[in-house]
Amino acid sequence: MISKVKAALANIMGGSGASSSQHSTPVANGSVVPSRHLPERLAVKFPFERPSFLELTPEELQLAADHIHRPVITPPEGRRLLWNAGYAEVINAGKSQNNEDQACCEVVYVERRDDDSRRNSFSSTEDQEEEVSELFFHHWGLFDGHAGPGAAIMASKLLHLQICDQLRDIVDILQKSSVPPPICLSNEVKTQSGPQAEESPTDEDRVLTNEAACRFHQEKQVSHESLVIGAIENAFKQMDQQIEHKRSTYHALGGCCAMAVVYLLGKLYVANAGDSRAIIIRNGKVIPMSREFTPESERQRLQFLAFLQPELLGNEFTHLEFPRRIQYKELGRRMLFRDHSMTGWAYKLIEEDDLKFPLIYGEGKKARVMATIGVTRGLGDHDLKVYNSNIHIKPFLSCLPEVRVYDLAKQDHCPDDVMVLGTDGLWDVTNDKEVADVVANVLSEYGPDHPRRFTMVAHELVLRSRGILKERGWRLANEKLGSGDDISVFVIPLGGPGTYT
Ligand code: MG
Repeated sequence: MISKVKAALANIMGGSGASSSQHSTPVANGSVVPSRHLPERLAVKFPFERPSFLELTPEELQLAADHIHRPVITPPEGRRLLWNAGYAEVINAGKSQNNEDQACCEVVYVERRDDDSRRNSFSSTEDQEEEVSELFFHHWGLFDGHAGPGAAIMASKLLHLQICDQLRDIVDILQKSSVPPPICLSNEVKTQSGPQAEESPTDEDRVLTNEAACRFHQEKQVSHESLVIGAIENAFKQMDQQIEHKRSTYHALGGCCAMAVVYLLGKLYVANAGDSRAIIIRNGKVIPMSREFTPESERQRLQFLAFLQPELLGNEFTHLEFPRRIQYKELGRRMLFRDHSMTGWAYKLIEEDDLKFPLIYGEGKKARVMATIGVTRGLGDHDLKVYNSNIHIKPFLSCLPEVRVYDLAKQDHCPDDVMVLGTDGLWDVTNDKEVADVVANVLSEYGPDHPRRFTMVAHELVLRSRGILKERGWRLANEKLGSGDDISVFVIPLGGPGTYT
């Protein structure tokens, strides 16, 4: 039965998803993937490429890299992505040689970890065969690279395998209807009761020990949902470590924002680390599924870290924020400020330390951490330093995603309900309502039976956000500046017959 499902899904994915499962053993718990465990085809330096599902010929690849005409690229006709999702992308207007966005769309099979202790508990070979369990998840990923495309390429090839590896520990639990209560570990009890625990316990001891265990180790209910969230969070951490250890081998010297959507057992998990965004449009209403992580949105976290470890600022920066740069002649005067504990502003007397450059400076898209980077979560950036200094930025950047959950199975959806994922190139110039309007307009034009209706939506979103090249650069319909960034968009349908296959 499982092999039939695999074959059917491999058909849809052109075999790429199924082949991933053959190599889905990237890491052991708490350790970095050794290169010998990497899939053979990946154990080489990652060359620059566009997502494989675009199936670009060398000529088309060249065309896609044209900074002057910036053609919108979509999968070829007849290529059906997972759930018949739509995808489109366009290269930047010249800010970097390569398109530094990357995308991934895969079905991934999760095999239970091959655990000797579990295997030994089986009574016979037949039991082992009966106990073999498997599940699979659907994965869409967007990765917005900076300082080179390497980290984004690496994450697009491996993050879903890291998620798979984390899920391997909980296959059995997820396939049961409820989570068993945590087991009181006997070692913990022995530690509490001291040397006497070395002796054989009597029945009375056992009762007392169990009571003590319950008193000191209160049981906590752990939901399936929080186990999956934890698996995804840990996968991001492992991915970041993998980039750190392999960044020279794989030419992944920069970093990337990462957004991963996982569909597992009826729920969509949207994990975001960076400034890409996802929204659901249901019955024309917008439901935000992520938030951006920028120096402004994470000001207090960054300031608190600098407050606790001022040495990270290299005696060049102050963790306090002021409405503007302070001049030397203003020493001793009063100025508005705020620190890690404040959301509002208050006055303080200006001291010499306050003359240092602020940890966070600038507003909106121009805000930077230590005058260097405009996003505060993502993967990579292990070598990033403040210009002309030895001050590392990485301690201030978090690889942890925020994971939001959407219970797809509990909602009724119509064929026009979608989730839209986009890198910041989309969201910088197109707001939620405009995206919802484009979705409604294009889907009404291309009816429910049109095979490329969601690709047409993605195409229109990218085209509209890029704009038209005029004398004064790329312009939107309202003559405002179009996005000069790389733009990548997935449009994932949430309703209609046979969607979730
Ligand atoms: Mg971008």
